[in-house]
Amino acid sequence: MIISTDGIVLRTFDYRETSKIATFFTRDQGKISGVMKGIRKDPRKFGSSVDRFSVNGLVYYEYRNSNLHLISQCDLKQYFFKLREVYRKNVAANYSLELVDVIMPVESPNKEIYDLMLDYFNTLEVSDDIDKLVHAFQIKVLLHSGFRPHIDSCVKCGKKVGGKVRFSMRLGGLICERCPTRETSFVIVSRGAIASMLFIESHKWDQCIKLKLHKNIQQELKFILNNFLVYHLEKRIRSLKFLMAKGAL
Ligand SMILES: [Zn+2]
Repeated sequence: MIISTDGIVLRTFDYRETSKIATFFTRDQGKISGVMKGIRKDPRKFGSSVDRFSVNGLVYYEYRNSNLHLISQCDLKQYFFKLREVYRKNVAANYSLELVDVIMPVESPNKEIYDLMLDYFNTLEVSDDIDKLVHAFQIKVLLHSGFRPHIDSCVKCGKKVGGKVRFSMRLGGLICERCPTRETSFVIVSRGAIASMLFIESHKWDQCIKLKLHKNIQQELKFILNNFLVYHLEKRIRSLKFLMAKGAL
């Protein structure tokens, strides 16, 4: 079957003498990989050099019995220059590619994730509030990929939370002050941090990026989200290390 859709480059590597294998997150088919035959021998064969931080119009032949398809057309549609030029933006953008690659199964369409990536890149190009964008991206990726932390009520008794609330990394949610726990992998979390996460989950991207986040809440979100992601995604995300080291997160 021939499929035509738009795709954001997640990663590429050289294949055999003259080809490349590229993995895209596409608008209609989710994460797909395909061979681009002869692209290294004759770069003009395709209308894109398949760089990171680009959106491309794709046409590919879908093989039924393989996860690797044959890409016949790839034309550059949008390129995010700043994400390549500005170091912290570059790290934050690379992180999002890696996160989507790790969290999303192959060929599982998810329009919310696709639109989120475009929103994130477009905002990252023009905004320097990188930490907040990364937090908003993480919260929305978790929501739309089915890995959402349980933050509306107590994960043990289901009742509304109040007072001194703990966030359990292992259970992936809040534990109220009434519920006993022998958990060691928990952290005290403020009402403000919970409210911020719930706001980001329930509002459109444009509204989320206007949200003011106090430094203390940013620190809390950084700790909770990064540890939650590391705990629940078996594979550690390589670029997280760089993101944290440079003070971007
Ligand atoms: Zn409880």
